[in-house]
Parts: sequence; structure tokens; C-alpha cells
Amino acid sequence: MPSCATIINIIEKLAPKNLAFDWDNTGIQIGNYNKEVKKILIALSVTEDVVEYAYEKDFDMVVAHHPLIFKPLKNVRKDQLLGRIIYKAIEKDITIYSAHTNLDVAEEGVNEILAHLLGLERIEILKETSTEPLKKIVVFVPEGYEDKIVEAMGNAGAGFVGKYSNCSFKVKGEGTFKPEEGANPFIGKKGKLEKVKEYRIETIAPENKVKGVINAVLKVHPYEEVAYDVYPVDNEGKKYGIGRIGFLKQEMSLEEFACLVKDKLDLSTIRVVGELNKKVKKIAVCGGAGSDLIGTAIFKNADAFVTGDVKYHDALDAFMHGIALIDAGHSATEKIVLNRIKEYIEKSLDDINQEAYVEVYMEKELFKYL
Ligand SMILES: [Zn+2]
Repeated sequence: MPSCATIINIIEKLAPKNLAFDWDNTGIQIGNYNKEVKKILIALSVTEDVVEYAYEKDFDMVVAHHPLIFKPLKNVRKDQLLGRIIYKAIEKDITIYSAHTNLDVAEEGVNEILAHLLGLERIEILKETSTEPLKKIVVFVPEGYEDKIVEAMGNAGAGFVGKYSNCSFKVKGEGTFKPEEGANPFIGKKGKLEKVKEYRIETIAPENKVKGVINAVLKVHPYEEVAYDVYPVDNEGKKYGIGRIGFLKQEMSLEEFACLVKDKLDLSTIRVVGELNKKVKKIAVCGGAGSDLIGTAIFKNADAFVTGDVKYHDALDAFMHGIALIDAGHSATEKIVLNRIKEYIEKSLDDINQEAYVEVYMEKELFKYL
């Protein structure tokens, strides 16, 4: 049976925690990493209804997009809403975990899904937020083991340069060592200086993969003590960011595009700012509250920007700049990720021969349009 830690590892492979914004509070909110998990509930927000449901139906873990705890708590009071939710979760030992802005930014996250769902092509990041730091890894390997080591490093995530994998470089040289008392050398005798033909193999890896790469090397390297170095480099790794921008396959009117958004997001109403007969092709998107990115969408010459939570003055600003705005609602532009998380967790558990019951809690539409 998987533990909370297993589930969290799976989620953080999809949405690495270091992608979250500084002001955010992603990660475990309540609970513990060691708890065994039979049932997982996926939700957009941790409402009282969600925790009530998890409580009644014996869920062990709630995985939500929005953090339950956002500002530091001064108290946990049972007579207040947040305190009540926390009490309820603790009472039944329900772990509550959030993947928020890291899931927005992730390569397969909210914004990427939204862009694909609307049929965009040549999708790029709307606004860059971080660049993956890289490290150079150097390992010294005896002759005959070089390919094994390169492959192990590649499988652990090292050696990716653009669209190429297993990138490495090796030079031949001579290594020296003298096995001391207590050593169990692969080559050589105790107390005698050995000279061995070795390769210096170097490659590059994202910082968060270095540990895994070194562990993979240690597993296949024949030496008792493996010599390796990890260097900082100034090369820039993969770029991450919020929102996406891309092109529709065919130009269409704003009205046609708004109907497409409505259809894809399964909405009965939608708010549109702009001339309905205006032609649109280059589209920017940001799930949830994305008004902060209107300026970036204008700068990048988008014809229309799809987001949620648009305020009057932001809409007016967009209108005056001539960019069309589609406010499809905060939850409608984000809940598209929930089923993906469910499928992703199920598949990832299957890959490691484990299983858990995973269910999506679809909250009722908050706003009613009369
Ligand atoms: Zn949101």
C-alpha cells in the first residue's frame, strides 16, 4: 500500500515544489508522510464539504489545488470555519496536501492543459518565472564500465541537452589509489599504490536530479569508494513560467472563439470583452486569476486572453489596448486539471505495482447566473 510520501513524490514529479511562487503555501498542510493511503480524494479547494465527504467516506488523503492554510495561523478554533476543517481532518487522520502555483507552472500543469484543450498550437510560456539550475557531474570509471555508467546517469535524468539525451563526454587517463587497512578493493592489493586506466566521464543534470544520478552511479560502479565531483555551472536549464501563448489552427471571430471556450470548458455563460466580430488567432491563457498577465499578453501581441476573475478596471484596460478578454471563471479554467491528476496518480502507482482508490470531487459551481 502506498504511503502519503509515495503519493507526494508522484505529484511532485509532475509539479516540482521548487516551481511554486514564494508567496504560495504548497505541500503538506496537515498530516504525515508515513501514513498508508488506501483512498485519495482530488479537489480544487479544501472546503468544509470536501473534508466532510473525505471524513464520511474514509479517505486517507485529500490532494487539492488551492492550499487550505495560506496565511500563518494564530490559533486553531473549532468554533471557526478553518479551525473546524482542520479539526475534522485531524480527527480522522486525513492528510491534506496542496499543489498550487507549482501545478500552474508545471510542464503538464493547469496552463498547459488549458492551452491544449482550446486547441492551441506552437504553445509557449506566457511569462517566465524560473530557470532550472544545472550542475556538472564528473565520475571516474575503470575501463569497460563507461557505457554502463553513462546509461545509468541518463536513466536518472542526466545528460539532457535540448532534444538530446545521454549527452556526455569522456577522456582517458590514469587513476591512482592505495587500498588501506579495512578496504575491500575491486582492483589492487592492500598497501600498494595502484595505477589504473580510468575514464573521466562528464555530463550535466538539473540540480534536483543530482542526488538520483549519483545514487544510480553508485549502484552500477564497481568501486567500493567512487570518485565523483559535482560542479556549479552558469548554463541555463529548462525554463518554467505561468500562462501559455499559442495559435489557433485557424483564425476565427472572437464570438466563435468564445463559443469554443464555452464548449471546451462546459460552461453555459461566459464573459467577453472586445468586438465580437474581431478576428483572433494568437491566444494567451492563464487558468484561475490571471489578470496580472494582461500586460504580458498585450506585450506578446495576443489577440485574446482567456483567464478568470477579471475585474472591471483590468477589463477596461484590456479593452483600451485592443486585446480581447474572455473571463471563463476561476474554477472552470482550473478544474480541468483534476481528472488528469487522478489518471496520473493511478498510472504512476501502477508503474510501481501499488494501488489506491482515487476519486475526483467536483465542487458545485459557486456562481449562479440568473
Ligand atoms: Zn485557483
